[in-house]
Amino acid sequence: MSISRREFIRLLGAAGLGAGTGLFGMAPAMAGKNGGQVVIIGGCFGGATAAKYIRKLDPTISVTLVEANKTYATCPGSNWVLGGMRTMGDITFSYDKLVSQHGVKIVNDLVTGIDAAAKTVSLKGGDKLSYDRLVVSPGIDFRWDMVEGYDATVAETIPHAWKAGPQTELLLKQLKDMKDGGTVAIAAPPNPFRCPPGPYERASMIANYLKQSKPKSKVVILDPKSKFSKQGLFEGGWKELYGYGTDKAMIEWIGQDKGGDWKRIDAKNMSVHSEFVDLKADVINAIPPQKAAAIAASAGLTDDSGWCPVDGKTFESKLHPGIHVIGDASIADPLPKSGYAANSEAKVCAFAVVSMLKGVDVPTPTWVNTCYSLVGPRYGISVAMVYELTADGKIGKVEGSGGVSGPDTSRRKEASYAESWYDNIVYDTFA
Ligand code: FAD
Repeated sequence: MSISRREFIRLLGAAGLGAGTGLFGMAPAMAGKNGGQVVIIGGCFGGATAAKYIRKLDPTISVTLVEANKTYATCPGSNWVLGGMRTMGDITFSYDKLVSQHGVKIVNDLVTGIDAAAKTVSLKGGDKLSYDRLVVSPGIDFRWDMVEGYDATVAETIPHAWKAGPQTELLLKQLKDMKDGGTVAIAAPPNPFRCPPGPYERASMIANYLKQSKPKSKVVILDPKSKFSKQGLFEGGWKELYGYGTDKAMIEWIGQDKGGDWKRIDAKNMSVHSEFVDLKADVINAIPPQKAAAIAASAGLTDDSGWCPVDGKTFESKLHPGIHVIGDASIADPLPKSGYAANSEAKVCAFAVVSMLKGVDVPTPTWVNTCYSLVGPRYGISVAMVYELTADGKIGKVEGSGGVSGPDTSRRKEASYAESWYDNIVYDTFA
């Protein structure tokens, strides 16, 4: 018996996997073969969670997690760093506990190739790893070709800060160095992209910092979309906290119909351009269009959309059997590209991988996602949803579940829930 019944039931709850799914036939009285080799690419909400939960479900399975970096700075919480509410140290984690508590093997290297036929993964350092099942959770890359004047080199002076770490620090420094009375431009990405409410939480957190330290300054969002996640809630918070809609507004949103569809960055003149808008700014945060990370594309796991099609029940690639793709890189909508969804997908995938290695039925999953955003230090908002497998094997929303914060929901309480959500999910992922 790999895990106790109590632990298994706790895991079921954590995974959002319901009773009556056939799962109770899987563990702890789980039949089938022991052992097997699983390799996982990418050590964050998708990959690190999958590594931990595969080992929890069956410690006879060897799990090797390959991650390019020795530590991971989480994107969730990185906007709070910009708002002066957390430090980079607060949002940076090591893999030590995955090793010491869960027996995951960590390899800090870059995966340069996947041979789906030979079932091997090649590393930049020269090694090759064999697997019985591969889990790929490499996150996103940018479609630099869709923006004129912007690429990885320009991003060293005009940060995207859409992968947390040095980019977040660069944006933070530029905000601190900016004069009072300056303009911060946020060029938001088109759909689909990582963290739908992220650009608007970022605008809020920057406005929070400016309100305290540089009150004559403002944030202007150029947006190629005509609407955005939790828009009514954000705009309500912006009115209360930052004078939104008045001539003293610290946040301005320029959507698609007003020319927000930016296509060009002029780094020399510090300006962002669309067909109808030319916006000069003191700090530019340009978040380009996105696609699945490079390794997913080079391994042939992406389709024409640039993202990875997967089976809804197992997250196994529709293009390469034996390889599972989870997290932002996968096509899992209506699940959003969020850390919480990646964590939920990872648990579903862990059950699928263990079941497949054991040769038993894969249980029917459900998923859960909640996205909290801070509009101010004591002003939180949220959207939540439960998802289920539909009869045709796709992921669907459970009708009547979830929703957004209501008019009477305490924004102060939601802010404290946001902070405890963060502490819980990083514990669940890295400890
Ligand atoms: P990632 O977190 O990107 O992890 C991928 C890992 O793979 C990286 O560590 C990378 O180094 C590694 N990797 C990639 N390629 C290779 C390779 N070839 N070899 C080895 N390693 C490789 N989500 C929420 O739920 N709540 C929030 O409040 C929230 N806030 C956010 C705020 C911001 C500003 C942003 C940008 C995102 C936010 N998100 C939030 C979204 C969340 O960060 C992502 O959805 C989540 O990180 C996706 O996890 P992942 O495992 O798919 O990818």
